[in-house]
Amino acid sequence: MLSLKGLRQSYGAREVLALESFEAAAGEHWLVLGASGSGKTTFLNLAAGLLKPSAGEIRIDGQPLAKLEGAALDRWRGRTVGIVPQKLHLVSSLSVMQNLLLAPYLADLPVDRGRAGSLLQQLGLEEHAEKMPHQLSHGQAQRVAIARAVMNRPKLLLADEPTANLDDENCSVSLDLLKNQSMECGATLIVATHDQRAKARFEKVLQL
Ligand code: ADP
Ligand code: MG
Repeated sequence: MLSLKGLRQSYGAREVLALESFEAAAGEHWLVLGASGSGKTTFLNLAAGLLKPSAGEIRIDGQPLAKLEGAALDRWRGRTVGIVPQKLHLVSSLSVMQNLLLAPYLADLPVDRGRAGSLLQQLGLEEHAEKMPHQLSHGQAQRVAIARAVMNRPKLLLADEPTANLDDENCSVSLDLLKNQSMECGATLIVATHDQRAKARFEKVLQL
């Protein structure tokens, strides 16, 4: 599903990531673990096609990312990759429901309100559909970001530090939601974190 070869990323003269090879198969759940500054966010941005590597090849579901540019890359990403960014990035001027519907709209897919409604229900958010992001707790906002990330049934689901600032119970809840939602759409899940609590919850760990 995700295949990396000879991957290197430098900012200026400083190399921040070097991975000879990495493979994540369809449906696998991976934890990318490393201290702050070890390149976890860089790794996710490369896998999402948000960043071009300094060297090496990235393939997702057989597609070499280097072959995609501009609008075609954005369209491919919108249909293939779900991203839960560390800072969530919900659109503050749109309701919860509208934030979810933006995902298919931007990917040029049919806007499926039924899918959005059922995700909100699964994630315990049905009462919050018409709220604005600032009216949500951190945990609720994170669930909205997870729902938005899986709206288009991605093949690859990426989450950046999803357990940051969560107590032990909500740490488990957040990881369970990501695992359950990736299983629902048959997606490969990659969670990046410095949080050692997550280690016990994943069989596959990439240490950076
Ligand atoms: P992590 O997510 O593991 O904390 P990052 O991938 O964010 O690590 O960053 C890895 C290293 O690259 C850090 O030292 C960071 O300061 C540096 N870095 C990240 N993004 C940039 C950038 N756009 N320009 C320059 N340096 C960067
Ligand atoms: Mg990071």
